[in-house]
Amino acid sequence: MTTVSTPASPLEQRRVLRTTIPGPRSVALGVRRAAAVAAGVSSTLPVYVARASGAVIEDVDGNVLIDLGSGIAVTSVGASAPEVTAAVAAQAADFTHTCFMISPYEEYVAVCEGLARVTPGSHDKRSVLVNSGAEAVENAVKIARRATGRPAVLVLDHAYHGRTNLTMAMTARAMPYKTGFGPFAGEVYRVPASYPLRDPEGMTGEQAALRAIDVAERQVGADQVAALVVEPILGEGGFVVPAPGFLSTLASWAADKGIVLVADEVQTGFARTGAMFAMEHEGVVPDLVALAKGIAGGLPLGAVTGRAELLDAVHAGGLGGTFGGNPLACAAALASLEIYERDDLAGAARAIEAAVLPRLTALQRDVPAIADVRGRGAMLALELVRPGTLEPDKAAAQRVAAACAAQGVLVLTCGTWGNVLRLLPPLVIGHDLLDEALTVLEDALRTV
Ligand SMILES: *Cc1c(COP(=O)(O)O)cnc(C)c1O
Repeated sequence: MTTVSTPASPLEQRRVLRTTIPGPRSVALGVRRAAAVAAGVSSTLPVYVARASGAVIEDVDGNVLIDLGSGIAVTSVGASAPEVTAAVAAQAADFTHTCFMISPYEEYVAVCEGLARVTPGSHDKRSVLVNSGAEAVENAVKIARRATGRPAVLVLDHAYHGRTNLTMAMTARAMPYKTGFGPFAGEVYRVPASYPLRDPEGMTGEQAALRAIDVAERQVGADQVAALVVEPILGEGGFVVPAPGFLSTLASWAADKGIVLVADEVQTGFARTGAMFAMEHEGVVPDLVALAKGIAGGLPLGAVTGRAELLDAVHAGGLGGTFGGNPLACAAALASLEIYERDDLAGAARAIEAAVLPRLTALQRDVPAIADVRGRGAMLALELVRPGTLEPDKAAAQRVAAACAAQGVLVLTCGTWGNVLRLLPPLVIGHDLLDEALTVLEDALRTV
């Protein structure tokens, strides 16, 4: 990197614009990148990072951006949280890898103990640690199939579960995630989700669940289904909060039919939605939870946590991986878990919702392109349409995100049609900084 990192002096939490965005050094790196990095890997904002701290990112040109994306809900405890970097440095000095499948270590065990404590339900739990969200989802499916002896997997419309072969099959959206990458894994069946903005007027969560169950029973047969995999709030699919009763109705059907309920809490987990896990908002206790993203303060780690009898149904050696539960990632997860609990980051997420939601709702009255304001905690979104219709307006979302970036505020988009602006600030973001970022976003929405 061109900038020397000085951990002793954390970045000041304020927005600084020194050049146009991207600046000349980022542009120059973009040229090198084009000649070395695969074109299939794209970046939302081609601004090259020198340092990051808390809720700001400093680029190689000295601009400091306010981060409303957290690297996709990863740095919820703040970028480079001092407790996390200290834990990682200490662990790196002790040992960086042995492979838990060869010679185990306490940190892996301690992470599994922590996950058993914080995930929903007081039943006996076990965990397996992996490297990513996709790997967590894949392992949840493996466990459910082995435990039930059944082949089929049910997933929701608008779902996102990852980019591996099985999780591509489970993901709904073709472009950019699936187009040209088939054939996909078999025995994956898609049922309708609850999407209050786009469902028939007045459809309740229970009705939406019965619609999904009807498709599953007619087209698959409940006795063939190993797992029903749900995101409690659709993530890449557009931050869609299902109508109340949707998840609980699906959960009781699954329990009744011996189907393993898997909550993909990869994006919603770890305090993001104002509860430690988003399933808690509906009082639903899943059988298995897939975890990653916010689990380890920015280090790569994933996990499946759930009922002991399900995880322990798998034969010895059936789960694992060379890097799964890497010691550095485990040290970071232990430090992060402590921050989530000690600093009540779920409460911080609720405070972010309380500060942001009224402003977005007020904005909706002035900007007819905003069809919907939704989300929970610090997982909030605006869905943009052509005014007076429900026709998705992806170009508008992109223009708003670009206008924010030009002003030094990093905002991500999502949604099946790419027309949703999503806000995922680090949960430690200061009130003034959040306020400033929102003002930039409001201006962009009013003018674009
Ligand atoms: C990001 C995400 C995944 C995939 O996680 P990776 O770590 O990118 O493999 C799976 N499920 C959900 C809900 C996600 O948001």
